[in-house]
Amino acid sequence: MSSDSGRKCVLIIDDSELNRKQLKDILKDEVDVIEAKNGDEGMNVIREKFHQLDIVLLDLIMPGKLDGFGVLSEMKREHMTDYLPVIMISTNNDPKNIEKAYDLGVLDFISRPYIERIVRRRVLTTIKLFKKQRDIANRIDRNYKADDEVRDSRTGLLYKTNFFNQADTQLRNLNLGNLWMVAVDIDHFKLFNSYYQWETGDAYIKKIGQTLLESAQRHGGVAGYLGGDDFAILCPARMDIVESLSNNLNRYLTDNSFEPSFRVNFGIYPIVASMKQSANDLYDLAAIALETIKGDYTVNISVYDPTMIQKEQDEYKRLLNIQEGIKNGEFTIYLQPKVNISTGKIIGAEALARWNHDGQVLGPNLFVPVMEKNGLISTLDKIIWDRAARFIKKQIEKQVQPIPISVNISEADIYTMDVPELFSEIIRAYDIPAGLLEAEISEATFANAPAKAADTVNRLHEIGMSVSYDDFGTGLASINTIESLNIDMLKVDTSFLRLSADAPEHSRNILEPVLGMAQQFQLPVIIEGVETAEQMEFLEQMGCDYAQGYYFHKPMPAEKFTKLISNPQKLDLTGIQVSVPQSYKVRQILDSSYISDEVIANIFGSLLILNRDGETVRVGWSLQDIDGDSELSDLVDASSEVPLSDMVKDTDREAFLRLFDEALKNRKKGAKGSFIFVFGGRQHLIRLRIFYMRNNINEQIYYAMCDEIEDEEK
Ligand code: C2E
Ligand code: CA
Ligand code: CA
Repeated sequence: MSSDSGRKCVLIIDDSELNRKQLKDILKDEVDVIEAKNGDEGMNVIREKFHQLDIVLLDLIMPGKLDGFGVLSEMKREHMTDYLPVIMISTNNDPKNIEKAYDLGVLDFISRPYIERIVRRRVLTTIKLFKKQRDIANRIDRNYKADDEVRDSRTGLLYKTNFFNQADTQLRNLNLGNLWMVAVDIDHFKLFNSYYQWETGDAYIKKIGQTLLESAQRHGGVAGYLGGDDFAILCPARMDIVESLSNNLNRYLTDNSFEPSFRVNFGIYPIVASMKQSANDLYDLAAIALETIKGDYTVNISVYDPTMIQKEQDEYKRLLNIQEGIKNGEFTIYLQPKVNISTGKIIGAEALARWNHDGQVLGPNLFVPVMEKNGLISTLDKIIWDRAARFIKKQIEKQVQPIPISVNISEADIYTMDVPELFSEIIRAYDIPAGLLEAEISEATFANAPAKAADTVNRLHEIGMSVSYDDFGTGLASINTIESLNIDMLKVDTSFLRLSADAPEHSRNILEPVLGMAQQFQLPVIIEGVETAEQMEFLEQMGCDYAQGYYFHKPMPAEKFTKLISNPQKLDLTGIQVSVPQSYKVRQILDSSYISDEVIANIFGSLLILNRDGETVRVGWSLQDIDGDSELSDLVDASSEVPLSDMVKDTDREAFLRLFDEALKNRKKGAKGSFIFVFGGRQHLIRLRIFYMRNNINEQIYYAMCDEIEDEEK
């Protein structure tokens, strides 16, 4: 849609001549600029030069018949916003206006004072991204249209109708035994395409097609391509077939260093022969099973059960309600104080989303998961960030000491928007110090999108914000990357702690190494979910400095929080400190009185995080043992290519694997056993004690304590 010269063409609609001139000066080296001085003139240019324009920069408030909203409404009515991106130029950043403009199809906004680099980048990126999305939409349309072709040239799979026909034939063939219909797609493929290149997405689609085809050829059955990122396979009712597909495709992601959250999901419908449904109907049921695991990072295979239909319908209704709620401004923040354990004084607060619905205040578990599934979560997050910034601004205006407020960032946010840039805009719009607004990024995000998350952390630091690592301990996948991440604070999740009275030893065993590690990295730690005095005492003994939990304060409305902090005695504005500032070696942790004797006895040499995938056990992370040059450290080397399970002597391997099953069954007590390992050309008898922690994508995570009983010559 560019002008003849091949340069992009920008239309600026603004009644202020000065504004137009400033923007034109910023942009004119790179693009052609057309100006319009009011809404009517702008609309005329749009109609006349629709095919030449690449983007519209639109002022909202203009005199005359048509203001910015008027122009937007007309464009939307004529479906022009589907083809021509609009960026809003706003002089006043009333969030109501911003929300309304987004509703009308505005993609982004630029506010004054104009920062040249940002304006230029914003305009050019929007043109590029918008074009890419249109290309994708066209490609997908074309895929669907090409249905009369028998096979897709890219994947070699049968197209929709042909696939369903052939599947129907196979379903009538009674010799095939029990069958499954499996719906297959990529978790948020649209994000994949906007994050990587279209060609990269294309290659991924091709890989999936080939993998499914090979499986159908090997095990029997038929595979089909339904367009976009949707695939289906009719296969023998065997979980190992689906699991091997899943493993194959996950390996493809790893080999190409793609973010693991773009894994392939499988929805299985076990076919009941007597029901005689068509392949198409069976696919719809499999797709419902698939839908239930969208956005759930812990599973990627789901088997249909009849309650899913009801759940699906309920969720759909809830989603409509939520969208209505956003329009009506029903979402707001509650604030939960973070305190210094030893003084009880408040050091900051976390902004948590709440939904004022039908006279009730609803918590995030009723809306966050649903919104995460369909991407609406980013809209909510922006509202919450805005409210938090507004709260900070109000404190400053009241001339009370403002305290830092943290907000949550979702994984979808970092793919779909330029998070640091949005924050700098919010910070500028409210004119607040960047240090008062903090970001929380969850462990799930760090595990699913390591590269993108690390980049986000760095760029948030550049604009002066601090970043917390949220829910630490829920998915140890990325534990060894924490040091390089430059995180400002670790928030330790309570479920990881299991601070229950019946297993204090267990909590201690986990928490001590975590604190030790945090101190080694000089990272302050905040414990979440402290509910009782006992827990508080326990934490204090362990040397924890900061906490957030019902025992101190529940999340509360902003007004109540304001009242609470109006007493300066209750505040601690000295900032977060690490209690043990010098760098810690493991030896020092073990030598210090800081750690209990039991733990020293227990972990003696090494603490390991083990990842188990079927018969293979790998070391995910290890705490270096005391004696750095002993052979035990070779064994626990996380970077070793050889899986730990391959180092177990053949005769011991079965028992070794059984230990993991036992630990899985017996979560509290774990499982103990001794096995012969062969490494460095020698045999070593090693005693292991392992605990099951959690599932991660395709593997189970355990933590293990181990020590060598004796080492024998071969
Ligand atoms: P989170 O970020 O880990 O937030 C802490 C949660 O722990 C909050 O639940 C808080 O009320 C709760 N909590 C605090 N102290 C205690 C305690 O002593 N005992 C117990 N049992 N719970 C405690 P909440 O507000 O229900 O939020 C749940 C989750 O929803 C949050 O977990 C966060 O993941 C998500 N969430 C909340 N607000 C937002 C948001 O604005 N955006 C996004 N993306 N997610 C949000
Ligand atoms: Ca949080
Ligand atoms: Ca948390």
